Amino acid sequence: MTHVITGLCNRHGGCAEVCPVGCIQAGNPPDEWPYYYIDPLACIDCGLCRLACPYNAIWPEAEVPDFLLADIHANYAYYGRVK
Ligand code: SF4
Ligand code: SF4
Repeated sequence: MTHVITGLCNRHGGCAEVCPVGCIQAGNPPDEWPYYYIDPLACIDCGLCRLACPYNAIWPEAEVPDFLLADIHANYAYYGRVK
């Protein structure tokens, strides 16, 4: 499983600073204040990013609320991963 970043993200980058495997990146283009995304194949599900997020934007994939389900795909797609 993986954690995913949803549209609740405010894009300040705190999650990327705590990820122990470096699998969170800002999207493109960087100079346009992009959303952040988690690489679903690299994430080790440690949960540290979720604890660091002040906006409750990060969820374990299996627990993403219904109204945010469409955001799961964005994480996979950003890294060219097939779900
Ligand atoms: S910590 Fe939360 S709000 Fe900040 S960039 Fe990460 S997902 Fe977005
Ligand atoms: S759950 Fe852990 S490994 Fe996965 S993105 Fe968050 S901090 Fe990184």
